[in-house]
This record gives sequence, structure tokens and C-alpha cells, in this order.
Amino acid sequence: SIVVTGATGHLGRHVVEQLLDKVPADQVTAVVRDAGKAADLAERGVRIALADYNVPATFDGLFSAGDKVLLISGNEFDKGRAAQHKVVIDAAKAAGVALLAYTSAPGSLTAALADDHRATEDVILESGVPYVLLRNGWYHENYTENLAPVLEHNAVVAAAGEGRLASASRADFAAAAVAVLTGEGHENRTYELSGDEAWSFAEYAAELSRQTGREITYNPVSVETYQGILTGAGLPEPLAAVLAGVDASIERGELAGRTGDLSRLAGRPTTPLSEALAAALKG
Ligand code: NDP
Repeated sequence: SIVVTGATGHLGRHVVEQLLDKVPADQVTAVVRDAGKAADLAERGVRIALADYNVPATFDGLFSAGDKVLLISGNEFDKGRAAQHKVVIDAAKAAGVALLAYTSAPGSLTAALADDHRATEDVILESGVPYVLLRNGWYHENYTENLAPVLEHNAVVAAAGEGRLASASRADFAAAAVAVLTGEGHENRTYELSGDEAWSFAEYAAELSRQTGREITYNPVSVETYQGILTGAGLPEPLAAVLAGVDASIERGELAGRTGDLSRLAGRPTTPLSEALAAALKG
């Protein structure tokens, strides 16, 4: 079976959707915390397994020998994600899965956000399980799903200076994961996944101006100021610090790398930011 954790998350939904285009539904298992959130998938014949990274026993016997597993990294930043992920890795090892793919962070990323991913990669390598590291870059959606304040103030605010960012859409990253899960010869590979094109925030503001017919400018701020803006908007302090740290990494070019791995795996170019923006502005 092909088993996807985090299947009711944003990325997981794209992965399951794209898997269903390639394999019969009864060969896909969605690992979810809340069966209610997965009712639509169950209806379509996807197998549902209930498990929580925080409750190791829920993963007992969940995987079978020969399974191909996608471990989608969790989003509970305060709960020790590396330890959570180790629960899944231990269960995958015990079962003798054929492949364990993990959604990691770019090798070049030094921001604190990458720490859990680095630690998880170490656990995977030590486990001896056949693995694939899908080092996902930044999502277009981090921007396209947060356009309201930009349109309200006619300003793109970021702490990324003139840094460039090779983002791609969640659907693009999902396509890479699906290629790995349904293809052959990916064992023990590391893929650095990014968009085909890198853009600056000034270019992003210019593209937004073009598409909206308004004058939207880029307002670069310091990391401290940006963190304050995020907490002011209601984000918890630790998350605001993590996100501001990512902007500092963007300024240093750590999310601008373009290996072409993503479009090669997907078998098509990545989604241009302009296209993602147009879709988001249409609503
Ligand atoms: P989401 O927040 O939409 O999905 C996270 C998924 O993890 C959800 O399905 C959630 O389950 C599941 N999950 C969280 N905690 C647990 C747990 N304790 N046990 C079982 N499942 C759990 O994120 P995305 O899908 O957008 O992205 C996937 C991951 O990529 C994120 O979790 C994060 O690690 C990382 N990420 C990457 C970004 C990027 O730009 N590259 C940006 C943001 C995050 P449930 O559906 O029940 O909530």
C-alpha cells in the first residue's frame, strides 16, 4: 500500500488527490487524526488509518512490509516534531516498509525552522530504512493565502531585503512526492525541491500591481520589525520568530536554490508565481 500521513492537511490532500489519478483507491492509505476530516476520502475508497504522532501506540501495526510511506512533517512546533516523527520512523522500520519518504527542508536553510527537519533526517538515516528526502522549498501559498493585508495596505511587507525566493505550489511539491511513491529507483536519494524561477519581493509587488491595476510597493523591514508585525497580527511569539527567521534566510539566498529536481520529478515545469497569484486574486 501507499501510505500518506498528514493526509487531511493541505499538502496531504494534494498528494492523495494526485495518487488517486495513478493508482486504485484501495491501494492508498490515509493516516489521519480525525476520521471525520477524511470522510470524503473514505467515501472514495481510500483506506483510513487513525493515528497521532503524539501517541506511539497508534502506529503499532499500522504499516505493512513493502509499504511505501510518505511522512508529512507535522505542524505542532511546540511539541517536539523530531520526536513525533521518530514515532513514525520507528514503526516504519519495525514493519519493514519498502520506502519512507519525508517532507524535509532545503539543505541550505539555516533558519531555526530547519532544526526539526535536520534532526528527523538524522533519525531516518540512522534507522536504515530505505528513504527519500523530499527537501521542500517554500510554498507560493505562504503568500497567495495571505493577500488580505497586502491588498488592504497596498504594500508587501517582508524582512527579506533583496533576497530571491524559488517557491513552488503545494500541488507541485505533491507531484514530486507522488512521482517518488509511484516510481522506481528513488531509494536513498535526496531531492532539493524548488520552483523553476526565483523572484524578489520587489518583483512580487510589481506583479501584484500589474494584476490588480493598483500601485503595490515592497516595504522591506528589519527582522525585529517584521516579528513585531506578525505578533501584532495575532501570531504566537515563537511562530512569529520562526517565520521572521525564514525571511532572514531568504535575504541570504537560502531559499533561492534551483536544482531542477522538482520539475524533473513532476515531469513538467513548476507553477509560476504569477499564475498562483492570478488564481488567488480570482478567489
Ligand atoms: P498543514 O498544517 O496543512 O498539515 C499538517 C498535517 O500534519 C495535518 O494533516 C495534520 O493533521 C498533521 N499533523 C500535525 N500534527 C499531527 C499529529 N500529532 N499526529 C498526526 N498528524 C499530525 O501543512 P501543509 O500540508 O501545508 O504542509 C505540510 C507540512 O510542511 C507542515 O506540517 C509543515 O511541517 C511543513 N510546512 C511547510 C511549508 C513550506 O512552505 N514548505 C509551510 C508550512 C508548513 P490534521 O489534518 O488532523 O490537522
